[in-house]
Amino acid sequence: MNIPLIDLKKEYGLYGKNIEKAVIEVLQSGSYILGNKVEQFEKEIANYLGVKYAAGVANGTDALLLALAALGIGEGDEVITTPFTFFATAEVIAKVGAKPVFVDIEPDTYNIDVNKIEKAITDKTKAIIVVHLFGMAAEMDKIMEIASAHQLKVIEDACQAIGTEYKGKRVGGIGDIGCFSFFPTKNLGAFGDGGLVVTNDPDLYKKICQLRNHGSEERYIHDFIGMNSRLDEIQAAILIEKLKLLDMFLFKRIIVANTYTQELPNMKKKPPQYTDRTHTYHQYCIEVDDREQLIGFLKEKGIATGIYYPVPLHLQKAFDYLQYRQGDFPVAENAAKHILALPINPTLTVSEQEYIIKTMKDFAGVSP
Ligand SMILES: *Cc1c(COP(=O)(O)O)cnc(C)c1O
Repeated sequence: MNIPLIDLKKEYGLYGKNIEKAVIEVLQSGSYILGNKVEQFEKEIANYLGVKYAAGVANGTDALLLALAALGIGEGDEVITTPFTFFATAEVIAKVGAKPVFVDIEPDTYNIDVNKIEKAITDKTKAIIVVHLFGMAAEMDKIMEIASAHQLKVIEDACQAIGTEYKGKRVGGIGDIGCFSFFPTKNLGAFGDGGLVVTNDPDLYKKICQLRNHGSEERYIHDFIGMNSRLDEIQAAILIEKLKLLDMFLFKRIIVANTYTQELPNMKKKPPQYTDRTHTYHQYCIEVDDREQLIGFLKEKGIATGIYYPVPLHLQKAFDYLQYRQGDFPVAENAAKHILALPINPTLTVSEQEYIIKTMKDFAGVSP
């Protein structure tokens, strides 16, 4: 057995033919950047997400950067976010010249702890970047309530959560701006980099479209300083094809996750299930005390695992200047020590999963 966390080559076998056809069409079209395919994809994904506007951009990091820029956030501003996420979430805050302010997470969902947000708000706070980590929706009602009480903007980092629902609404379209990544390993992945910014606000949409294209609406006329962050036609054509399969693939992830949750032996922690929101399991993460031993045991049996994330952001060297210390966010620090991701992807077979579960039981000393 050799079970990787994700197998993009094997996945390609499921839909490769349609992708190849779509890509060749683009190659023959003579239009390669922000053309018909991007427009078509933007319409389809806006429809899928239940939002008015969607703008294709170069990657998920740029999507977040453009969101902050569109909201006018920069020097002297503070933005609240979670220390337990991919680096880019906080990186962009610093990149626009603002200060990342971290708030600890909930121990079960790994998302920002809504009960700790208000303590972190100052007169400089301008926005909250909420992350739907691993595909689990954050507590959006409470976050929107706090934001509205303090006149803060809400950016949803939904890079790991495309298709996730919170009280019947897809995430990304609940806050002021939603951001997505189409990095190849994401639940909707391109064959290269890609990203998306969504909003229901026509003015923000217009601003984002201009920002992604050098502050320009009319060619060679520039209203403000922007950047080059455009989605290309080949990626858009690929994403149009893959969007057709998204719900099926998310469903597959949920089935695999539910099986893990039912069948795995007792763990320190398994993902919680709620009735008011869905989890699309970009990662299926458990917590164990003897993580290093388990990783070694599984590796020996040909099963790959991953650690998301081994070092919380407040303890990253890049953020030394913020002067946080060990112990500042104990829940995030504890998660970083114990969390472990198991293989979950649309190509994982039933027998592969049975093997993983059996191996986990062997490790736990439970007789199969
Ligand atoms: C992947 C990811 C990003 C960045 O997306 P890229 O397309 O790689 O730039 C940002 N935030 C989170 C939570 C992510 O998982």
